[in-house]
Amino acid sequence: MSVYWNSRTKNLKPYIPGEQPRDRHFIKLNTNENPYPPSPAVIEAIQNAAGDRLRLYPDPACSEFREAAAARYGVRPEQVFAGNGSDEVLAFAFGAFFETGLNSESAVLFPDITYSFYPVYAALWGIPFRTVPLDDNFSIRTADYKIPSGGAVFPNPNAPTGKALPLADILPLAEYLGKNGRVFILDEAYAAFGADSAVPYINEHPNLLTVHTLSKSASLAGLRAGFAIGSAELIEGLCRIRDSFNSYTLDRLALAGAAAAVCDPAYYDGINRRVTASRERVSATLRGLGFELLPSAANFIFMKHPSISGAAFFSALRERGILVRHFNKGRIADYLRVTIGTDEEMDVFLSACREITGS
Ligand code: PMP
Repeated sequence: MSVYWNSRTKNLKPYIPGEQPRDRHFIKLNTNENPYPPSPAVIEAIQNAAGDRLRLYPDPACSEFREAAAARYGVRPEQVFAGNGSDEVLAFAFGAFFETGLNSESAVLFPDITYSFYPVYAALWGIPFRTVPLDDNFSIRTADYKIPSGGAVFPNPNAPTGKALPLADILPLAEYLGKNGRVFILDEAYAAFGADSAVPYINEHPNLLTVHTLSKSASLAGLRAGFAIGSAELIEGLCRIRDSFNSYTLDRLALAGAAAAVCDPAYYDGINRRVTASRERVSATLRGLGFELLPSAANFIFMKHPSISGAAFFSALRERGILVRHFNKGRIADYLRVTIGTDEEMDVFLSACREITGS
């Protein structure tokens, strides 16, 4: 604690991102990055943008990227907001749509087991929230969200469980929240790996904000680009927050690369099919070895072994040069979240699992 920190800074409990090691070479299965490179068209676009024009500020409206995303998803550019990673989009969305205050009916709802940045954003903005327990099978039960609230947010598929909900559950919840004048933020960070996107339904649900990232399915975690698709009024709300903070959250290189990425679905469908095929192969092998896995619709698996604790398993993998993610809390303390890497990486991982469990 510093005497120079104000009380807000003192009270923050910042999000802790997964480790990005610099000292030693690991097989890195801890932060859900894509193991395959970005599209060659993305690299070329970034190289072309890396020139004299860096003297000039980037386009504050992010028009090229938004127009490309709009064309790709069949919406209008006014229905697209661009941000510096989807984390920034989510942070702005909390600030734009959820009320501060002490009234419990204005508390925002999200699952007890979900992306751990949500409570951090809520605390930063002073937004009250209530966590809703997943059911015994680690599924989100949307009926539990049909209560008075200040709005709702969760990922589909959820993280770190990897479990997806059908649109038949998502859309009625959007409808319920909309009738009550509340916003539903649907974080589709991992949707490309196996969940149906709600984007085609945004015109029917002006309170539904879908949030997307180029970090996972577009292999661009290092570029920092994300976007939201929703009604023009939601997008305008996000712009009001951004323009009260920093008009240029995406630089010229990111804008060029992001626009090129959304224009190359053929390349990305190809690499992401490889990721999901590896996920199915690895999942089947692990089940054969006695591991318990939740059914994953994401680019990671959530797994545990009946005879070894999550903490011990995490350490044993780390000693073998394999980094995964362990969340040391409650019902999920014995699980590990393992990102799907290349087939070669996953073979090393499977050998380590056999060795550690003696199977
Ligand atoms: N949402 C979820 C559910 C995530 O797991 C992540 C990655 N940590 C993000 C959003 C943020 O992704 P990014 O900021 O890289 O776009």
